[in-house]
Amino acid sequence: MTAEDILNLIKEKQILMVDFRLVDMPGRQHHVTIPAVEVDEDMLTRGVAFDGSSIQGFRGIEESDMVMRPDLDSAYVDAFTAVPTLDLVCDIYEPSGVRYNRDPRFIAQKAETLLKRSGIATDAYFGPELEFFLFDDVKFNSDPSGSFYSIDSSEAHWNTGSSDGPNLAYKIKNKGGYFPVQPTDSQHDIRTEMVLELMNAGIRVERHHHEVASAGQAEINFRFDTLTKVADTVMLYKYIVRNVARKDGKVATFMPKPLFGDNGSGMHVHQSLFKDGVPLFFEEGAYGNMSEMAMHYIGGILYHAPALLAFSTPSTNSFKRLVPGFEAPVNLVFSKGNRSAAVRVPVAAVTPKTARIEFRTPDCTANPYLAFAAMLLAGLDGIKKGIDPGKLGYGPFDKNIYELSAEEKAQIRSVPGSLEEVLSALEDDHEFLLEGGVFDRDFIQTWIELKRTTEIQPLSMRPHPHEFQMYLDL
Ligand code: GLU
Ligand code: MG
Ligand code: MG
Repeated sequence: MTAEDILNLIKEKQILMVDFRLVDMPGRQHHVTIPAVEVDEDMLTRGVAFDGSSIQGFRGIEESDMVMRPDLDSAYVDAFTAVPTLDLVCDIYEPSGVRYNRDPRFIAQKAETLLKRSGIATDAYFGPELEFFLFDDVKFNSDPSGSFYSIDSSEAHWNTGSSDGPNLAYKIKNKGGYFPVQPTDSQHDIRTEMVLELMNAGIRVERHHHEVASAGQAEINFRFDTLTKVADTVMLYKYIVRNVARKDGKVATFMPKPLFGDNGSGMHVHQSLFKDGVPLFFEEGAYGNMSEMAMHYIGGILYHAPALLAFSTPSTNSFKRLVPGFEAPVNLVFSKGNRSAAVRVPVAAVTPKTARIEFRTPDCTANPYLAFAAMLLAGLDGIKKGIDPGKLGYGPFDKNIYELSAEEKAQIRSVPGSLEEVLSALEDDHEFLLEGGVFDRDFIQTWIELKRTTEIQPLSMRPHPHEFQMYLDL
């Protein structure tokens, strides 16, 4: 779209406000709104100034002036504003006119450029599957003590009802949400409403369903696309899901493990490479019909996984999901079917074009621009170095991992257990991210410090509700 197209769209849709949006380092959207009558071609091509000092991870007070310049192809007529509003996703620039190195979208774009330059492939496709919970807004907001956040799943059943205890009729049992029809599935209509809004925004939705957890866990899937485009879609998807929920008196949360004892929410990421339209991950008859290049890509992902997780499972809560028994991956291995494996090779109904790997470890607390870029860089490093995941002992493990002998089990590496562990791993292993200047040292250091000072430390200083159970009487 050109600036002229946008100005025509403003007229045609009688837009009154134009919303300029950017994404910060952790992955939250921020915006500034300008009356449409003030928006001209110059503003659409040069962008608007904003104060970068109040945004997590960005500038210091002394050098706060920055510019956000819209990507005109991102135009979306907002479905949740009181007056017709056009939203535009922006890239971030220094006042001097150079791109800002801590703009996550810039990192995603650089990763795509690097791929094209590498000669290995022209396009990387990403298909993320976002899971989330819908909770009752009233319950959420009327609980200032915060005890809701510490409830375990048996209490959640009490809130939503469960088959244990009194007769609560159509209530889903622990881990029983996948996927009885209505009236047991009481959130069918709200998911449909979300799907219609997503489609309205131009997102190609493939399906929606209740997920496994009892307390209103949902999944809505959309079609894969190239890296930056799909990261933009993730941001828009979260915006739409949250706002439809809000309208219906619910809260949608993408946090990975809101309830103890029930399934958590992941963001599995399907990935494949193409060169000028030719799929590169398929080879008939090989393991899982995966080409050698695909195996090396898997090798790169698994080899760099401890550091990679600093971008793909970057919250303290992420590691409460990565525990055995809830379909979340706990083993640093690849497999054709095993859902506890970090990398799965989907085999059902796969064609050369749909051949892909599924990285299951990520969750929605990841900033999609950074996480997808880091995954691509890990995979490319695997291809360049010819990392064979089998030789490094990452599998394949297609047996039920719970039935392996102690000796076999001892060979299986686990995913790291905490945010601090993966940040330390990132400190030790980040050369692959610096390739082609996609990430830089400033960004990586800032990321590590941000996560330590604004997430790990504040949490570690607070008494946890469960500590009362363990220590009150000691
Ligand atoms: N909710 C599971 C997770 O935490 C995944 C369930 C599924 O395989 O879709 O990753
Ligand atoms: Mg799922
Ligand atoms: Mg999946």
